[in-house]
Amino acid sequence: MNFFQILILSMSVLNIVFAFILYLHSKKSISEGLFAFLTLNVGIWSLAIFLINYPNIDLSYLKFGILLHYFAGNLIFLSFFWFVLFYQREEVAVHLIWPILLSIGDFTLLFFMVFSKFIFVDIVKAATLSESMVFNKAGYLFYSVFLFSLFMAAELIMWRRFKNSTDLLRKHLKYIILGTSVAGLLGQTTNLILPAFGIFFGFAIGPVLSTIFIGIIGYAVLRHGLFNLKIIATEIFTLILVITISAQLLTSQSQFEIVSRGFVLLVAVVFGYFLIRSVYQEVRSKEKIENLANSLEAANVELKRLDQAKSEFISIASHQLRTPLTIIKGYLSMIREGSFGKVSTDISSTVNKVYLSNERLIKLVNDLLDLSRMESGKMKYEFAETNLEEIIESTVDEFQLPAKDKNIKITWKEGGNDMPKIWGDAWKLRQVIFNLIDNALKYSHDDDIEIKLEKEDDSLKLSVRDSGIGMTKETIGNIFQKFSRGRESTVAKVNAVGVGLGLYIAKRIVDDHGGKIWVESPGEGKGSVFYVRLPLVSAVKRNSQMNEFIEKI
Ligand code: ADP
Repeated sequence: MNFFQILILSMSVLNIVFAFILYLHSKKSISEGLFAFLTLNVGIWSLAIFLINYPNIDLSYLKFGILLHYFAGNLIFLSFFWFVLFYQREEVAVHLIWPILLSIGDFTLLFFMVFSKFIFVDIVKAATLSESMVFNKAGYLFYSVFLFSLFMAAELIMWRRFKNSTDLLRKHLKYIILGTSVAGLLGQTTNLILPAFGIFFGFAIGPVLSTIFIGIIGYAVLRHGLFNLKIIATEIFTLILVITISAQLLTSQSQFEIVSRGFVLLVAVVFGYFLIRSVYQEVRSKEKIENLANSLEAANVELKRLDQAKSEFISIASHQLRTPLTIIKGYLSMIREGSFGKVSTDISSTVNKVYLSNERLIKLVNDLLDLSRMESGKMKYEFAETNLEEIIESTVDEFQLPAKDKNIKITWKEGGNDMPKIWGDAWKLRQVIFNLIDNALKYSHDDDIEIKLEKEDDSLKLSVRDSGIGMTKETIGNIFQKFSRGRESTVAKVNAVGVGLGLYIAKRIVDDHGGKIWVESPGEGKGSVFYVRLPLVSAVKRNSQMNEFIEKI
């Protein structure tokens, strides 16, 4: 055997093995099956070329080889045509009537080729292939034109899909069109057209070209993940290794060679097996991770959608609740002020309780509305130079009455007359302070609350100290989160409505002011101190000047 024969035979074996491996690994889709069939035909076709070129071959084998060459060669184009129809779309959107008619025509031609003298008048034993094949010129021309049209139809279909497709598919189709048109045209020239003129020199180049053909389509198919390249490559590599060592073993001359090559073969088989297994496992776990990541992503999208729906629901429900609550507040105020006549002390104290509960509900609804505003990015601030002391003072005043009801004294330690102003939204900051004092009152029984404001470097630091239920380290880590409530507040059976939003909102507001909010507590039952630090106007201005300066340079 010369080099060319070995090359053709190995191409043939390679393609046949490749076809089987592809089929075994395919997910049994139509396009995958067609591609495996195409590859098998390339293998058979190459084998036929090997047979035809075998020196001193029997006439019957030569006849068989030549017919097989044209038969398998034809099926390469036919399966390519069908592959193109199904590539990347399993349920075919095209009408199949024309492809079926074309295929029937093709098989009829093949039938006539084998069983009549339509294409081959005779096949004889001669020195050269051109002398061996006696063509019926008209039949051969018809056959060639038919096959060429089939090939062009496939290319045309792909070209049309290429023009109408989007990114990824477009890229794959580009490879297929480019590779198949070059290899297909060259293959037809060397193995179909030139032989018609008695030129057979390119006959043996066919298998090499066809392997390019397979390689290019294979690349596009594999890139799309229909088959797994890594597993297939490992299997082919192991197979070639085992075949080579086996061939060496069979041609062994001495006993030593038999033993040593046998040992090498054994090692290759064992290692090959483990190699394939590990690659298999690796690929599968990668696939699993990819699938998991995909489903996680989908779940995340769904969660976000639900979260959005929830926010919208809260917003709508809160708006609906606010109006009646405000009306109730109005009437209660009028009763308390005696607008409907004098009220007895008993009724007055009951009305007060109703009023306070209503206030809590209003606060809750406002918190929920704030939450939905924050989450939809609609929270608006009106920043200005703000006197924090004034805000604290008025808020403390507001709490004096309920504090008295609970027998709690609120002490407010002013910072002094020359307290500098801060840069903030007075209304929103009031909400923060309100929440802190409200909590201090809510989570204390009868101990005093101390509120202090100090200047610290470039900021003002507010502290709200109570000697109430306190909190554990674990609670400290969570309470600024949305809907988070401390275990202590439920255990202590605090007589208050709350959903765990006040501190979350306070933190968002303080953060948006460039400040900081935090809590310190020595432990459960030992009271807590909430701190808020807010930057002074001068510091904010300096910062913004600095930013402008940085942006300029
Ligand atoms: P709510 O008071 O509506 O539950 P908040 O966000 O205002 O919601 O508070 C969250 C949690 O922080 C409370 O449930 C409580 O456990 C804890 N907490 C807040 N302030 C205090 C405080 N002054 N003393 C003890 N625990 C507090």
